[in-house]
Amino acid sequence: MTDQLDDGCDVVVVGGGAAGLSGALMLARARRSVVVVDAGAPRNAPATGVHGLLAREGVSPAELLARGREEVRGYGGRLVAGEVSAVAREGDGFAVALADGRSVRARRLLVTTGLVDRLPDVPGLRARWGRDVLHCPYCHGWEVRDRAIGVLADGPMAVHQALLFRQWSDDVTLFAHTAPAPTGEQAERLAARGIAVVEGEVTSLVVERDRLVGLRLADGSAVAREALAVAPRVEARAGFLAALGLPVAEHPSGLGEHVPADPTGRTGVPGVWVAGNVTDPAAQVGAAAAAGATAAARINADLVEEDTLRAVAAYRNPFSAAAESRLCELVMGNRRHGL
Ligand SMILES: Cc1cc2nc3c(=O)[nH]c(=O)nc-3n(C[C@H](O)[C@H](O)[C@H](O)COP(=O)(O)OP(=O)(O)OC[C@H]3O[C@@H](n4cnc5c(N)ncnc54)[C@H](O)[C@@H]3O)c2cc1C
Repeated sequence: MTDQLDDGCDVVVVGGGAAGLSGALMLARARRSVVVVDAGAPRNAPATGVHGLLAREGVSPAELLARGREEVRGYGGRLVAGEVSAVAREGDGFAVALADGRSVRARRLLVTTGLVDRLPDVPGLRARWGRDVLHCPYCHGWEVRDRAIGVLADGPMAVHQALLFRQWSDDVTLFAHTAPAPTGEQAERLAARGIAVVEGEVTSLVVERDRLVGLRLADGSAVAREALAVAPRVEARAGFLAALGLPVAEHPSGLGEHVPADPTGRTGVPGVWVAGNVTDPAAQVGAAAAAGATAAARINADLVEEDTLRAVAAYRNPFSAAAESRLCELVMGNRRHGL
C-alpha cells in the first residue's frame, strides 16, 4: 500500500518507524505537505510486543506502526514504500532520490532511519534475536524475570549489563567469551551480586523445541540458560547523509554510531533534522516518538520563519518578481471571470 510520489512537498520524512510517523503526524496536523518514505524494516520487527509504552503496553510492533500510518494518512500525510538512496541540496531545498529511480523535492528533511544491530558472530544467535536473545532489560526484562539468564561479554558494556539484568533475576551468569576477564574491581562487584563468571569462548547456542536451553563452550561443555543478553554494536542507517556533509560519529555512550544533533534534532546541516535511534541509540519507542514530534515542531517553526521572511520581502517591495507574478495571477483570474 503506497501513495503517489508527487514532485515537491514541505517535508520528506525518511523512515516510517515510531520517530518518523510521530514527526509526520505533527507536520500533517500543522497543515504541512509531508511524505514519509519507508523501507519497512523497523528495528524491533523480530519482537512480539512493544513493552514499556504507556497506554499501548504489549502491542505488536506491526500493529503500532499500522495505526500510526492510518493516523498520518487521516491528516493528509502521504506514505510511500521505498528506500532513500541519495539526498542532495537543490536550491533552497533538497532532492531526495529513491533506490527504485523515483525522486521527490522537499524544503526540509526529517531523517528517522534508525540503526542496524551488529550481532555477535555466534552460530544460532541471530535466529533467536528478539525472542530469547535480548539486549534491553527495559524491553524484555519482565518477560525473562526469575529465569536463568546469560550475558555474553563481547564489548565494554557486558559487566554493566550483567549487573542490570540482576535486577530481574538472581540467576545471572556472565560468559567472558572473547572479552578480557573482568578486572579485580569488576569481579568483586559481580561476586557481591551473586553473578557467576564462566571463562571460555561461546561457540553455539543450544536450542530445543524452539527454545534456548543453553550455551555451548569451546571445550564442548554446555551451560544451561533460558535467555541470553548481548550488547550489539549499533550502526546508524545514514550513509546517504554524508553527501550533504553530515557524516556519522561515535556516540558518547560507546554503543556505536549516531548522527549528532542538538536536543531538538537539528543537525549541523541547515534544513536537516534527525530523530529516534539514528541519533539516539538508547531511545525506546516512546522516546523515539517524542523526539520525532519535537523535531517536527521545530521544522514547522523553521518553515513559518521562512514563509514570513518571504512575505515581508514581497510586502516591502510589491513589484518584486514574486509579487508581480501574484498580481498577474489575480489579474488573469479576474479577466477569466469577466471582471
Ligand atoms: C529486538 C528488539 C526489541 C525491542 N523491544 C522494544 C520494546 O519492547 N519497547 C521499546 O520501547 N523499544 C523496543 N526496542 C527498541 C525499538 O526498536 C526502537 O526504540 C525503535 O524502533 C526506534 O524507532 P525509530 O523510528 O528510531 O527506528 P525504527 O523503528 O528502526 O524505524 C526506522 C525505519 O526507517 C526505515 N529506513 C531505514 N533506512 C531507510 C532509507 N534509506 N529509506 C527509507 N526508509 C529507511 C526502516 O526500514 C524502518 O522502517 C526493541 C529493539 C529491538 C532490537
